[in-house]
Amino acid sequence: LIKSFQTFKNKFWASPSRVLIIFTIGIILPAGLLGYLGFRSFQYEGILLSKQSEQRYAAIADLMQKNANDFFSGLVDSLRVISGFEAFQQWNSPEMIRRLLGTLDIKGFPIKELYVFDEQDQMVVPFHSESHEDSSTAIPKDLDWGPFTDEIHRLERLEFVERNVAEAVKGYSSLRIKTLPDRLQAALLKNIASGYRKMNDWRSAEATYLELTKRFDQFPDPAGYPMGILGRQLLAELYDAAGQNGKALSTRLDLVEGLILSRWGLSASQQTLLLKQVKDAISQQLTRSLGSNDGARSRWTQLQSIQARTDSLRRAAQDFLRSEWPEAIKRLRSQGWLDKGGVLLVDSPTGDLREHELMVFSPIVDPATNRREGLLVAIANGEPVWKAVDTMLMNQAQSAGLKVGWGRSSFVPSWKASLERSIDAVNPPLTFQLFEPISDAQRNFLHRRMWTYGGMIGLSFVVILIGLIVMLQAIQREKENANLKAEFVANVSHELRTPLAAISYIGEKLNLGRYRTQEEVKEFYAMLGEETNHLRELIEDILDFSKMMGGKKVYQRETAQLNSVVQEAYDRFQTKAKAHGFTVSLELPGESVVVTIDRRATGQAILNLLDNALKYSGDSREIRLRLAVSPTEAIVSVQDFGIGIPPHEKDKIFEKFYRVQHALTRDTLGGVGLGLAIVKHIMEGQGGSVTFASETQRGTTFFLKFPRGGYS
Ligand code: ADP
Repeated sequence: LIKSFQTFKNKFWASPSRVLIIFTIGIILPAGLLGYLGFRSFQYEGILLSKQSEQRYAAIADLMQKNANDFFSGLVDSLRVISGFEAFQQWNSPEMIRRLLGTLDIKGFPIKELYVFDEQDQMVVPFHSESHEDSSTAIPKDLDWGPFTDEIHRLERLEFVERNVAEAVKGYSSLRIKTLPDRLQAALLKNIASGYRKMNDWRSAEATYLELTKRFDQFPDPAGYPMGILGRQLLAELYDAAGQNGKALSTRLDLVEGLILSRWGLSASQQTLLLKQVKDAISQQLTRSLGSNDGARSRWTQLQSIQARTDSLRRAAQDFLRSEWPEAIKRLRSQGWLDKGGVLLVDSPTGDLREHELMVFSPIVDPATNRREGLLVAIANGEPVWKAVDTMLMNQAQSAGLKVGWGRSSFVPSWKASLERSIDAVNPPLTFQLFEPISDAQRNFLHRRMWTYGGMIGLSFVVILIGLIVMLQAIQREKENANLKAEFVANVSHELRTPLAAISYIGEKLNLGRYRTQEEVKEFYAMLGEETNHLRELIEDILDFSKMMGGKKVYQRETAQLNSVVQEAYDRFQTKAKAHGFTVSLELPGESVVVTIDRRATGQAILNLLDNALKYSGDSREIRLRLAVSPTEAIVSVQDFGIGIPPHEKDKIFEKFYRVQHALTRDTLGGVGLGLAIVKHIMEGQGGSVTFASETQRGTTFFLKFPRGGYS
């Protein structure tokens, strides 16, 4: 079991990507979890805190909620007081309009408009929204005199055909004693009055007309107009005929006043038509009687100013009916506020709460039956109301040491909802939130804590990230190394096999005596020497290198003349160079350059460079070996004019086993990728360095730099 576990373990750890996965799961996951938990604990703490303050301040929040709701209900209540006035109870239009014009505020908040609606939610004042628009065109119905039909016909004959007006009037009057419906009573009175007029009995006619307008003011005459209007018109004409100018004037002024104040609930067109007629008559009369009638004149101006105001109110009302009312009545219904009244908020186009209008509604209730008979609507400017609400909430919160924020529910942010209450006496409801003010010290503490925790978590993530990157790179490098090693083994075996094959081939030939001349034998022996040399060099390289890698290579440094070391390497290289057709030039300084080096190793380094120059020369057959000096260092350079080293390979060629991939040269020119690594080791082991300059297809120059003078 243990064994199989171990094989599994070995296999497992052999795959770097698996290690990476484990690492990620093992570190990132817990770190993420920790971060999340930290965040949640902050949140939880916040909730706990707000729970505490909820408990502590619930009472004040409730009180503030009650006060705010009371504030809005108070507006409704004060409107309700107005709706309780007699004018509204008796449904008396002129008085209602007077009230509307006279009511300028509710509870001290200025109102802009005030309207009265009836039971069917139709506007009645300042004008009838769906008034008797058709009544002027309605065909007047014949009165139904019932059992008295014959008698009436007889009297009408008497009056109009026989022209016995006095008898007719007598007859009409006697009919009045009977119990007749009001409509018939009114018709009788009208007949009687006109009879008196025909008889020139001014006094009786006047009295009868006055009675008619008084008792049957709202009753329609056969043509559909109320008797109040008809009677006054006839009365005025009567006064005209009698030359009683003052009385005629004041009767017409009464008529105008009634019309302006919607006394008879006429339609807008009827109203305008009549008003124009009567006003024309009045102004004619006034111009005729210049100077006198001061009282009438001042009443006239007064009426005109009232008319201007009602006109503007009517226009506003028309707007209101068209744009705001349909929506408002819908909301009132859905809130169930029709019977008890309420406050609606009307959005302003800007969305600024202070610009929102306020609509206050109160039912008009019949005190006897307690039934709703109509609706009173007041439109108020929002701003002063909002200011009052604001001060009220602020003051109350402040006295409890709290802060408050409030507004339309949909605009108040809910994420801090610790102590939140809604004000739903107004629709759409408002919301306010209470906060415990945080002291500077507390805020600083919270900030500091947030930064510390956040910073720590952030930092650990950064560290983990860096670790991951580093690890990835290490894995990458490891992979490359593994590849290089495999390639190295292949190269080495190839390099070993080639000379061995040659040696065994030559040995066989010599052994079996397969040669023709002695010359050939000599050649064979020379080749044998060359191949064995090659083998030895290769093996030495590998051995040297493994020593270097094991840290066992020790450089025997001594004071030496670099000139002679370079010369030696040059001499040793000659044979090989000649064999490959190369000319090698040597340049030495006149002085002797003395440095502290390991002679053998340095020679090997130079030879390695010469070897490379030969291998990578391409078609060129020239190599330059040079020794130069500066005050601080001695430089051995090996220059070729071959294929060069591509810039992107610059950093890699000194690595062990590394070889640039040459499509053409690879097989013909041997190498295992150790040469430059050895050179580098040798140079650095002696306190020197190796560098190069290269241009592809132009050639390469390697420089070995040795420090001079007292240091090493
Ligand atoms: P190798 O056994 O392949 O020569 P080295 O370590 O000596 O190994 O060289 C590494 C690589 O550097 C070579 O494969 C070759 O591509 C490149 N290189 C070395 N010297 C030269 C040079 N003088 N000109 C062009 N390329 C060179």
